[in-house]
Amino acid sequence: MFIDSHCHLDFEAFDGQRDALMLRCLALDVMGFLVPATTYEAWSTLAVLAQQYPSWRVAYGLHPYFLKEALYRQVERLGEQCEREQVVAVGEIGLDNWPGAVDMAVQMAFFSRQLKVASALKLPVILHARKSYDLVFKCLREADFKEGGVVHAFNGSLEQAKRFRGLGFVMGIGGTITYPRAQKAQRVLASLDTNAFILETDSPDMPLHGFQGKHNTPLSIPSIAHHVARIKGMTVEQVAAQTYDNLLSTFPKWHEGLL
Ligand SMILES: [Zn+2]
Repeated sequence: MFIDSHCHLDFEAFDGQRDALMLRCLALDVMGFLVPATTYEAWSTLAVLAQQYPSWRVAYGLHPYFLKEALYRQVERLGEQCEREQVVAVGEIGLDNWPGAVDMAVQMAFFSRQLKVASALKLPVILHARKSYDLVFKCLREADFKEGGVVHAFNGSLEQAKRFRGLGFVMGIGGTITYPRAQKAQRVLASLDTNAFILETDSPDMPLHGFQGKHNTPLSIPSIAHHVARIKGMTVEQVAAQTYDNLLSTFPKWHEGLL
């Protein structure tokens, strides 16, 4: 059984296709989905969709790249939202050092406030960190954040991975490792402990090698697992079982509220 630990199935790209996609996922043994929110406006849509798909788990948060319209009072509502809806994490939150993103000081303020919400609720976080690992470490340290979580789309060094591990985080491993040019990411993965990572697609983004320009879906998870198995010298079944264990220890509320 596989889980996609990061997919934006609430995005419009999936409108009209979700039922069929869920059935196709089932046929490939992709049985669970963690869908993190991105903007405040998207929270209500996600809450409605999560009711319809029992295999989804959700997280709410304000994504750093989409903070342009965001207001601090939305962070105040984050706690209520997480308590009202059954969540497994707060996210996706973090820092995005990419052209077009809002000022880093503003991002850090939002990130720190959202870390406080997660701490108060004892929830792990889904970290979005692009070209910003040092600043993310700084914010985690200043917030004295202890709940851990996942570093979504991890693409750092082994040393950075170890530092995140020390703070209770696992690394999110996705389609990047399927590219022949991603030798550094593959080397880091080869050296990671088997309990240090989980699988994700970031659908509809981050298509696998050979599928550039296409919409990504959780159907890519078995293929990612296949690459991980080759890199780690494990069987695909071992990768599936190990990453499921890793997911459950990262998100202890995964099975809460299940039928
Ligand atoms: Zn995402």
